[in-house]
Amino acid sequence: MSAAPAAGDGIDHGTPRGYAQHRQRKVLPPCAQCRAANSTRERQRRQAQKAWNNGATGTPIPGRTVSTGQDCAVSGCGELAAVPRPAARMVRVDWPGSREPARWYCPGACRTYGLALAEVRAIGDRRA
Ligand SMILES: [Zn+2]
Ligand SMILES: [Zn+2]
Repeated sequence: MSAAPAAGDGIDHGTPRGYAQHRQRKVLPPCAQCRAANSTRERQRRQAQKAWNNGATGTPIPGRTVSTGQDCAVSGCGELAAVPRPAARMVRVDWPGSREPARWYCPGACRTYGLALAEVRAIGDRRA
């Protein structure tokens, strides 16, 4: 039912605000003018959202993927230093006082990861 809005009911007919007032005051269903105003606003909101998503502020560029000792495909990377050096280029990472034992890592990102891991575990944070 979209009868002509009654005058003097305190609703700002023909505006999104009026549409909300219809709902708040349970003057339902909202009149055609208010529904039109509301759908126009919804459409504008969706377009604004779309513009935002497609704009420069949209999808963030994912960080560069670096291999770490945790998921490195190189055989022997992250092995305990108790075993012989897995490959000539591998480096031993040992942090005094760390709960993390000495391990072999590839040079570069894996070694950095291993050092960070060992360092964190030396701080005494049991959750690390
Ligand atoms: Zn209305
Ligand atoms: Zn590695």
